[in-house]
Amino acid sequence: MAIREIRTKDDEILHKKCKQVTNFDSRLWILLDDMYDTMKLHDGVGLAAPQVGILKRAIVIDVGGGRIELVNPEIIEESGSQNGAEGCLSVPGVWGEVERPNKVKIKAQDRDGKWFIMEGEELLARAFCHECEHLEGKLFLDRVTKFIDQ
Ligand code: ZN
Repeated sequence: MAIREIRTKDDEILHKKCKQVTNFDSRLWILLDDMYDTMKLHDGVGLAAPQVGILKRAIVIDVGGGRIELVNPEIIEESGSQNGAEGCLSVPGVWGEVERPNKVKIKAQDRDGKWFIMEGEELLARAFCHECEHLEGKLFLDRVTKFIDQ
């Protein structure tokens, strides 16, 4: 395992759409392991592959309930709304208020390619939305309604 360099907001890779993962092989597993270690080192709760320079649809999340890996994720249901502070490891030191759905149902593949469905509420729902947007080349900054002074 290795710690990878986190790309920051002006890096063009963060503004590109990611490609579907088609090979569920040891390269993917190493990427997911490295992403998780990198996220933990920086005290993040989510990290998407483009943030470490890889244009693949892969995400790791841990909001305190354990490690979640989402490959080729798709949000299939959203409900309610929540307003809260959001930050991003690719935009260090910046926090802003972002409105998100309060409940999100997501469909994804695991590291072996098996499809599953998972539901998230509150912070986990927020992480699903934030990380999926990275795969579309979007940053949370576009959604901030109010920046928060540190
Ligand atoms: Zn982010």
